[in-house]
Amino acid sequence: MRPTVPRLPAMTGDSARRAGGGGIDLVGLRKVHGDAVAVDGIDLRVEPGEFFSLLGPSGCGKTTTLRMIGGFDAPTSGRVLLDGVDLVGTPAHRRPINTVFQSYALFPHLSVTENVGYGLRWRRGLDKADRQTRVANALELVRLTRLAERRPDQLSGGEQQRVALARALVCEPAVLLLDEPLGALDAKLRKTLRTELIELQRKVGTTFVFVTHDQEEALEMSDRLAVMDRGQIVQCGRPKDVYEAPRTEFVADFLGLANLLDVTCLAQDGSERAQVRLGEFPLTATCAGPGSFAPESGPGRVVIRPERVRLAAAGANGANTVPAIVDNLVYVGATTQVLVRLPHGPAVQALVVNDSDRDDLRTGVPVTLTLPVDSLRLLERSL
Ligand code: ATP
Repeated sequence: MRPTVPRLPAMTGDSARRAGGGGIDLVGLRKVHGDAVAVDGIDLRVEPGEFFSLLGPSGCGKTTTLRMIGGFDAPTSGRVLLDGVDLVGTPAHRRPINTVFQSYALFPHLSVTENVGYGLRWRRGLDKADRQTRVANALELVRLTRLAERRPDQLSGGEQQRVALARALVCEPAVLLLDEPLGALDAKLRKTLRTELIELQRKVGTTFVFVTHDQEEALEMSDRLAVMDRGQIVQCGRPKDVYEAPRTEFVADFLGLANLLDVTCLAQDGSERAQVRLGEFPLTATCAGPGSFAPESGPGRVVIRPERVRLAAAGANGANTVPAIVDNLVYVGATTQVLVRLPHGPAVQALVVNDSDRDDLRTGVPVTLTLPVDSLRLLERSL
């Protein structure tokens, strides 16, 4: 027999948001297809009004998670709560949640106005004038008023995407789900629409759950993000915190450029610092998490972002320094990517800002690297 779940009250997105709602809780959420585990026990809180991104490589379970929030897929186990109310058992069309898909899914034979107004047809308590006002407001919000009578095939990709957004927002949902909504657009348009989406979200205050495999997109747009791998959330936090303090090699490598280096762990002083050896050079690193260090010494990995590596003349003194030889220089406008090689072989990339004429950096020149303690992070062995 199916367990009884509390029914979602007759709540619209408007009333949810007026009440400061739109908060989602995923509790032990799991989805299995045959012997394939798509989502493997996710616990997550998305705050009302937050721009939250699910980020991860293809196949990690982002879309499946979104589909379970939207009601398009039923979880194998676990719960989806909206403002504390269990949604499992409530069909997609009864949830105050709308979705924007990558494919837009517009009706080709309807005008922009008709596409946007489509979802309001069955909305109780709205007369024709109310519906027209809502559609006009939604079109203004996405700056499409002047194209209101066109059909989708008379619009550019970016304009079609705006129609899809207006159509989702016109119902004033408590939560908007966006599944790679910028995926079909060219790089330049994606950048423009990123900014527009952020502004739109700030204006309407709706909770946005955004799915992407584009780390730049997630870093730029989100209040918080969750990095997923093989059906699990491996790290969740504000973009800056996850980028600056990745806990695992997977997160460090997936999110931005990372120097990953093998070290020998020597000792831990009981604080968050660890003593490690890089080749023959002793260094102090910051533990990335509780799983960073085993009590006994042994192999480990550290990460440091290229922009955190500092370069000075050979022989320079200071804490956490290592000698190296410049191997290659790539000028990329505002910065130069400097590849240096350590005495025991590995390469390290440093990013040097081109704010002065620095002619000491040439291929073959010996230099001193400083790897600041706070930026040199001893990664967790496993999660
Ligand atoms: P992408 O970025 O490529 O869209 P994703 O992170 O959104 O990937 P999902 O679409 O959620 O990944 O899929 C997660 C895993 O579940 C994948 O390995 C996929 O093959 C599997 N999967 C999804 N739907 C089904 C299904 N209906 N039957 C069997 N396996 C499925």
